[in-house]
Amino acid sequence: MENKCIYCGKNYDLSESDIIPDALTNARILNKNVCRIEHNNKFSDMFESKVIDALGFITNELDIKSSKAKRYAAYEAVVTIEGIEYNLKLHGDKEIFNGKVIKSSDNKHMISSYDKAVKIAKDESKVQPLDINTIEIEKTVRINNKIFFDTSMYRMLSKIAFEWYCSKNNISGYYSEFSNIVEFITTGKGTNPVSIIQEEKIYNMIDQVVNLGSHTLVAFEKEDGEIDVIISLFGLLIYKVIVTQKKPSICMYNFLYTELRTDSSRKEIVHQSVSEAQQKLDEVLNLDNFVCTDIIIDGKKVMAPKKKISLQNLEIYVLLFNLIGFLSATNDDATGPNFRVNKIFFSQLKNITQASTLHKKSIKRFVHETFYEGHEKIKLNPNASDKKSIVFLYAVYLIGNSEEKELNDVILQKIVKEGLPNVSNGEFIVNDEIENSLKKKMMEDENYSDTLERGAEKVLNWRN
Ligand SMILES: [Zn+2]
Repeated sequence: MENKCIYCGKNYDLSESDIIPDALTNARILNKNVCRIEHNNKFSDMFESKVIDALGFITNELDIKSSKAKRYAAYEAVVTIEGIEYNLKLHGDKEIFNGKVIKSSDNKHMISSYDKAVKIAKDESKVQPLDINTIEIEKTVRINNKIFFDTSMYRMLSKIAFEWYCSKNNISGYYSEFSNIVEFITTGKGTNPVSIIQEEKIYNMIDQVVNLGSHTLVAFEKEDGEIDVIISLFGLLIYKVIVTQKKPSICMYNFLYTELRTDSSRKEIVHQSVSEAQQKLDEVLNLDNFVCTDIIIDGKKVMAPKKKISLQNLEIYVLLFNLIGFLSATNDDATGPNFRVNKIFFSQLKNITQASTLHKKSIKRFVHETFYEGHEKIKLNPNASDKKSIVFLYAVYLIGNSEEKELNDVILQKIVKEGLPNVSNGEFIVNDEIENSLKKKMMEDENYSDTLERGAEKVLNWRN
């Protein structure tokens, strides 16, 4: 089949479009039937870059970075050091004392390396030494959720839903059935096909099955033929996008699921319809498809399925049937921010900022930023609270103490699970109490600084 742009039908100068902008996911998905300039590059300036810039803090928290960029996205923070406020643009947690000159918000104080500070002040008596291991530091980030209800966000979500649904259905060329969503994506005019799900139950259902910070996409066909795509963006807010009221007859696959995780792995389910999915699942669960094993528990032989179906996929099917059932029956979405939506947003955000996800990418980033070349040995500061860093430091400490010489994903999860029993799925939620107890455990070991160095070296030696 000839490849043509799904927006305009052009059959030349096509490109691979990142369905979700590269800077917002570690697990890229592509649509190859998008023309290069008009319907790929231009979208970046029209609406994508505004969203990407505004989400810098969230992508930082989740260790998500564009594959093309060297650094993580910047975000603004107010850092209070010994009672004085500094407005900073940060690319990560560890950037405050990296030798750069930082100026206080009232322009009366500066922090830098001692030598540099003396040079700038031209008078050593005006320079005060700071011991970064004992000073009080507090970081505040002001989150404005306005971007989540901005037209640029709605256009980006429409683009994601449309390009994803088309790629799953191998659509090539323009179809008039998609005229409404195409008009909205390309011009921002026409009917906005996006609404916001404000039913807390749906957030809980999805949270139970997907990983922290994942993007989750679900497509299904309603009884009247409308195609809806549900997008859970980082798990922060869940949107519904009406892709078309009536699909082109060549669209065969209308029961779709994709989860894109922050550790760059993904989960996919593709079926033609709800009933086909139901049938496939019934076949797998049918007793005829089970065989007796020789394992006996409580006097009964254990049954095992002939065909392999992982327990987690079973969980996803159950989620999808419940979700589709619920969303087909109700129509109670919000069109903008309100009390219910804001409450959900801030509670989901709290989960993301309090949880650490321990996997190769996040731990490597932490070690690169903390144990950079020429760093001083780590001394814990009892007056600074940084929950995420403490969890990562503790993981590095466990790695340093472990007898395993080389790391891989399985060994990391084993070390972490043994040392942090509350970890599930690589996720760990920290409160003040846990932070203090992890700090205490390390500080009771008089060699903890050396153990940390050893752990960091193992992480740095972890090959790709
Ligand atoms: Zn085009």
